[in-house]
Amino acid sequence: IGERLYLGMDFGTSGARFALIDKQGNLHAEGKREYPEYMSGDTRDWVSSWKVTLFSLLEDIPVHLRSLIASMSVDGTSATTMIIDSKSGDTLGRPFLYNESCPDALPVVKSIAPENHTVCSGSSTLCKLVSWWNSNDTNKGSVVLMHQADWLLWLLHGKLGISDYNNALKVGYDPELESYPSWLQSQPYSNALPSVIAPGKPIGHLKEDIAQKHGFSNDCMVCTGTTDSIAAFLAARATQTGKAVTSLGSTLAIKLLSTRRIEDARYGVYSHRLDDKWLVGGASNTGGAVLRQIFTDEQLEKLSEQIDPSEASPLDYYPLQTAGERFPVADPNMMPRLLPRPGSDVQYLHGILESIARIEGKAYSLLKDLGATPVEEVFTAGGGSKNEKWIKIRERVLGVPVSRAIQTEAAYGAALLALKGVEGKI
Ligand code: ADP
Repeated sequence: IGERLYLGMDFGTSGARFALIDKQGNLHAEGKREYPEYMSGDTRDWVSSWKVTLFSLLEDIPVHLRSLIASMSVDGTSATTMIIDSKSGDTLGRPFLYNESCPDALPVVKSIAPENHTVCSGSSTLCKLVSWWNSNDTNKGSVVLMHQADWLLWLLHGKLGISDYNNALKVGYDPELESYPSWLQSQPYSNALPSVIAPGKPIGHLKEDIAQKHGFSNDCMVCTGTTDSIAAFLAARATQTGKAVTSLGSTLAIKLLSTRRIEDARYGVYSHRLDDKWLVGGASNTGGAVLRQIFTDEQLEKLSEQIDPSEASPLDYYPLQTAGERFPVADPNMMPRLLPRPGSDVQYLHGILESIARIEGKAYSLLKDLGATPVEEVFTAGGGSKNEKWIKIRERVLGVPVSRAIQTEAAYGAALLALKGVEGKI
């Protein structure tokens, strides 16, 4: 008789991962699968490849651990949308991918939604639904919209039409009122909207045939999921307000846990609900992509070693790949500023890292000015998080403790939701 374990599965842009944890958050197994390249005619058959990947991941879990799994959850890419026949469970048409745009639906959506609402973007889930609705004549009476994570979870528990309020934000669900707004409820497709509960809530037991076939417990609970970027935030375990995660990948994205909900379309700032708190996010176009244009990763490491992070660099840059910035400065015409370049590459890199740190600092102070909880501690994810000197520079510039997040995998965050679903708090 072993301890209870909790399974998280992450369906990201390039592949899927699983993480298996115990109540203390210790990792017992993890794994990764690429999506198989199934085709349906000329287009990718995502439905089949996601489904096959889901069951491949279940098969990848060590056999002796499967019966110990008390619960599972799944995160998926945000705004990846599927239209399902609610009688047969069949997918009607191919899924709309997270980054797909439906410009045909945008004017319609803009005419019904409040100005600057999150749904007023061509790639929002609502635009995808409206686009599907307006270009299909059949089956409209019995359709239900499901996000990628909802659909994968449905394969596991068998109840159609259930979502979580993180995934449902971009279809227009209001997580504060805990309902769809009236302008949405009055639309002809409102019956297609899924019912919404909090992320990390039990939905139902794992289907019996799946449990039996793969050796899972009959009591294994399937819990609501979230989006991939929120799952990655959860992985860092920044559970108190004032804690934040800066992601230093190709671009710089920040997420701050706040007592107040902040929305500001000018800066592309919006909030997701996490229980009684708000996860405020914003993304800058600066970040590691620019570093990679100038230095190799090897050079970055070597040059960084020679930087003295206790000294402020006088060089003031605004590293961008192309013109245009959204947050913390809203200026679509902002030009990249990477000159003058000093003779020393160490000084140049120091100046760039310091400048990105100043942009990060400006981002957190803008969120504070907009009414968010002031930042108290920053965890870091992404390729830039391994740079110890940069962490020291950022600590000096931000004036708060900065460290590398121990866990950054979205699958780990999904596992925490599974844990929460059956054990309460995490
Ligand atoms: P993506 O957003 O593409 O997933 P990653 O999280 O993989 O990005 O991070 C890649 C970025 O990390 C690159 O743009 C690179 O410039 C940056 N990077 C890699 N090594 C270092 C380093 N030692 N110091 C600072 N940045 C680094």
